[in-house]
Amino acid sequence: MQTVAFIGLGNMGGPMAANLLRAGIKVRAFDLSPEALNALVAQGAYPAGSAQDAVRGVDVVISMLPAGRHVESLYLGNDGLFSRLSPGTLVIDCSTIAAHTARHVATEAGKAGLRMLDAPVSGGTAGAAAGTLTFMVGGESESLEAARPLLSAMGKNIFHAGMAGAGQTAKICNNMLLGILMAGTAEALALGVGNGLDPAVLSDIMSKSSGRNWALELYNPWPGVMDNTPASRGYSGGFMSELMLKDLGLAEETALNSHAATPLGSLARNLYELHVKSGCGKEDFSGIVKQFRKE
Ligand code: NAD
Repeated sequence: MQTVAFIGLGNMGGPMAANLLRAGIKVRAFDLSPEALNALVAQGAYPAGSAQDAVRGVDVVISMLPAGRHVESLYLGNDGLFSRLSPGTLVIDCSTIAAHTARHVATEAGKAGLRMLDAPVSGGTAGAAAGTLTFMVGGESESLEAARPLLSAMGKNIFHAGMAGAGQTAKICNNMLLGILMAGTAEALALGVGNGLDPAVLSDIMSKSSGRNWALELYNPWPGVMDNTPASRGYSGGFMSELMLKDLGLAEETALNSHAATPLGSLARNLYELHVKSGCGKEDFSGIVKQFRKE
């Protein structure tokens, strides 16, 4: 049976690794946080004392870390995992990081004879727990086919975006659009409400008109318009504004590196920067509506 090393057991990695265990896969787990590690060990994972210990004898390594610098320090350099893995080992990084960082890490993996995929996800913590994540994968088709059974245990949709880094590029394009749509939806609702409209009536009108979009129809940022949205529970749960800010920053970095103009993405990043600085970083990203509301 395949044994997987899973490194990074936070809000996303913890439930993803738990789904591997539920599918009968052996998991050697490691996280810098003992609480995160213990939570997975309670569900049947083998507790490793370090990342180096976790990868001993495994066929596959999966990482789910906060940012590019964590991914580089895990895999590269003298102490990095790439110097310890047997040639042919499959390495799947699911963290959201810059595409150029993912390409650099994949190049180093290739030099060590390893197979590497960037496989960032969409679907949030709820999707991670339910095993319904969308994976956007960059790398060789053969490596994706080898990874598919594992990804299927954690997600519902698996897309091959292209070669190394392409998964990250797809993820960042999607989240830049999402940030723009959420900010635009919030702005339009605030304009209407400020001019006397009921937010639910305006949402209904726009949902059946040309302004319709995912943020408006399924994740409405105005409190009370929809049940079961973060807006209707004080912007708790959901996708934190500071993570949206991180992704909009990655989109801007990608645009700079490729000399692309992303004026709306930059504007959305600036709005989220202000929002996070106003103390709302831990709140759901639909809370951006607070920047537009007249209280
Ligand atoms: P998190 O902060 O909850 O978890 C990250 C975990 O990594 C932490 O438990 C931390 O202790 C651990 N860690 C950091 N460095 C480590 C190291 N060197 N070795 C071992 N463990 C280490 O973050 P998260 O919400 O799980 O997000 C993880 C990634 O998924 C990020 O790149 C994020 O952008 C992306 N993402 C998050 C969401 C979401 O809704 N939370 C959605 C999609 C994508």
